[in-house]
Amino acid sequence: MNQPVVEIRSLLVRRGGQNILQVERLNVGRGDVAAVLGPNGAGKSTLLNSLLGFIRPNVGEIRVLGRRVHPPAAPLYLLRRRVGFVPQALAAHGETPLTVREVAAIGRTGIAGLFRRLKSSDWRLVDSWLERLGLGELAERAYAGLSGGEQRKTLIAKAMVQEPELLLLDEPTANLDLFWREQIVEALERLYEQTRLTVLLVCHQLEAIPPCCRRLVVLRGGRPVADGPPEQVLGERMVEELYGSRLRLFASRRRYAAVPAGE
Ligand code: ADP
Ligand code: MG
Repeated sequence: MNQPVVEIRSLLVRRGGQNILQVERLNVGRGDVAAVLGPNGAGKSTLLNSLLGFIRPNVGEIRVLGRRVHPPAAPLYLLRRRVGFVPQALAAHGETPLTVREVAAIGRTGIAGLFRRLKSSDWRLVDSWLERLGLGELAERAYAGLSGGEQRKTLIAKAMVQEPELLLLDEPTANLDLFWREQIVEALERLYEQTRLTVLLVCHQLEAIPPCCRRLVVLRGGRPVADGPPEQVLGERMVEELYGSRLRLFASRRRYAAVPAGE
């Protein structure tokens, strides 16, 4: 078997006197599309940030793309070039006077070398991802002036122009309306069909899980409580346990939603 893209062993992250993430063993294989689902505060962002070395665990081992992230073996900037990351917060570039095309191009600078000029082949790649994500018309617009959904897509383009071997997304549909949520879910679905990339996606809503996701890890209170194909993991009991009230689960063509059960 190929070496897993992500390997976690005996991981413990403690902050403020609490165990905020505790994962005994978790592997993500090449070509997997896995979603980590859990309520707010479950430790989802802590997990992604630990994989990138932005958070130092207290105990345990993490390997990403075969490189040791914890305990750290080498500077991580070389590894981070190989990992596309779409963070939860959109505000990072909110005040930055850059166009959509320039924000997407930031993803290429790590590859080309920081502060080096991008080549025309780099710009072609940037433009091709903007086109594929339906942002071609917006390329010269100010990033700060875009809607939340358009900004999210720009950040996905920025991650993809890195030509990553692993894509990490932290709540890519958070704070989006239904139209934009569907735009992002569709974009992820197409992206997977076109690239067969390994994807680890974090979300707190069932509705954000794209159909290409064939594995669901449920996180609660910093611990995985279920791990398997969505159709096996997502029973009404699991959904109630996660979200605390009586809910009815809907499943349609590998998409999921929950509504209050009523009496
Ligand atoms: P999620 O992304 O699932 O909403 P997080 O990973 O952001 O959750 O956080 C998990 C828990 O850890 C939360 O309860 C959060 O308040 C807590 N936490 C995160 N970072 C710190 C920190 N530096 N100090 C104390 N508590 C933290
Ligand atoms: Mg989070």
